[in-house]
Amino acid sequence: MRIAEERFNAFKAMCSPSAKLYLTYSVSGGQSCSPYIAKLKNLIPCLKEIEIAKLDADEFAFSESSAYQTAARYGLYSREGVTIRKLLSENEVYSDKFDYIDNVRFGYAADHSIPDRSANEQLYGNKMRVSATSFEEYSKCPFRFFVSYGLKLSRPKKTQLNSLYWGNAVHACMERVFKKYAKAEFIKLTDKQLEDEIISAVNEFCETEFKGGFSKKADFDVFIGRLKANTLRVLKRIRTEMHGSQFVPELIEYNIGGENSALNVSADGHSLIFYGKVDRADVYKNYYVRVLDYKTGTKEFKIDQLYNGINLQMFLYLYELTREGGRLGGMKPAGVLYVPVISPDNADGRYVTQEEIQGQINKSLCMNGMLLNDADVLRAMEQIDAGTSGKYIPIKLKADSTIGANSNVTDEEGFEKIKQMAMDELVQMCSDLYSGRIPAAPLEIKGSSFTLCESCDYQDLCANFDYEKIKREWRDSYDMDKTAE
Ligand code: SF4
Repeated sequence: MRIAEERFNAFKAMCSPSAKLYLTYSVSGGQSCSPYIAKLKNLIPCLKEIEIAKLDADEFAFSESSAYQTAARYGLYSREGVTIRKLLSENEVYSDKFDYIDNVRFGYAADHSIPDRSANEQLYGNKMRVSATSFEEYSKCPFRFFVSYGLKLSRPKKTQLNSLYWGNAVHACMERVFKKYAKAEFIKLTDKQLEDEIISAVNEFCETEFKGGFSKKADFDVFIGRLKANTLRVLKRIRTEMHGSQFVPELIEYNIGGENSALNVSADGHSLIFYGKVDRADVYKNYYVRVLDYKTGTKEFKIDQLYNGINLQMFLYLYELTREGGRLGGMKPAGVLYVPVISPDNADGRYVTQEEIQGQINKSLCMNGMLLNDADVLRAMEQIDAGTSGKYIPIKLKADSTIGANSNVTDEEGFEKIKQMAMDELVQMCSDLYSGRIPAAPLEIKGSSFTLCESCDYQDLCANFDYEKIKREWRDSYDMDKTAE
């Protein structure tokens, strides 16, 4: 029945053209052509068979749109491209497009703005929802944000066992363990009990994401084995850290954002709702709160990242939780911490002794972030001896037990200023996007040997051929007092 239907559809399609009919088939990869082609060849022996690559440009240019695409395919400055451009010169839409490409090619600043507010309203709605990830994308390159989150254009991604799955699996394990066990129980779990929990959590995750391990390739088993071993190392480390800490997990995988959130901002009659998920929030003495974020990358926290709109989301979470009326309203900020959840497995045998291996694990799992400059609160996180550095938190104590200069700390006012800076960024983002200010202006990431554009899928859309001309310089400083006014 289905074959008959398909035959009918093929017949119908082949009878429909008014001028020409092209039937195409792939010759790559040793594929045999469709049975319909073979049948047609038998029925109509004079059928002309040609390679697409050998067709002239005019064979593709049936309409203005296809002519323009043909010009793009052959190169706008090729013989074919120039001819087509001449033909389309009377058409305002296409002549604008050609001019635009000239501008980019010959180094004039390309204007990506969309001044039509109603078009932007259609794109984002009256209330735009912005996630922590997309907020950072916007800070890196507004045009990239526009294409990715506004137009929602993205290259289809192949499902791979990559760091995304790794991160999701580790999150699932952490969520399961911390929701099941209060801190007092968790720190008493034996290695075996911890391992059993991880095995169950990873198996459950595999069942949901991959429908189990049945009929998967051998590398799937290797991936899962490494994932379990890694997560065990991470959880053992957290168990030891919690042993010496007086902070207690209070919220796990907690959703931030919504109609009543303080992270909703407005600009020029439009609103932006910021949302995200707190991986974990710990509380000390029912008064101090620290927000923790599990990180699969090797991301290191630096204060100047905040001046460039990077890593601001944790400060927004902290604010939303501790503000009056917030979930932990009335409590004070004790800091934000990134918790690495990937540690090396020493698969290449580089480290030989147990001390070396453990040393490497400890180094890779050190937390980083920004903490309150209150020695009592810091000691509640970790007992650090005078003149030494924390094993878990990024703090160094001087010989007199005061906080060392290289420690990432700030006071309550500092947290307030960072929060205000982040809120100002959100307001600016709301205003810019509804006004259509979306420049292709990639942030030059300090310390990175790659530019954002090198790994960007949208280079053909922004037509950025000259990175040096459009890059945005990294800000090394920021007038925090400006935001506090
Ligand atoms: S290629 Fe560069 S400038 Fe263009 S959208 Fe991507 S990041 Fe932005």
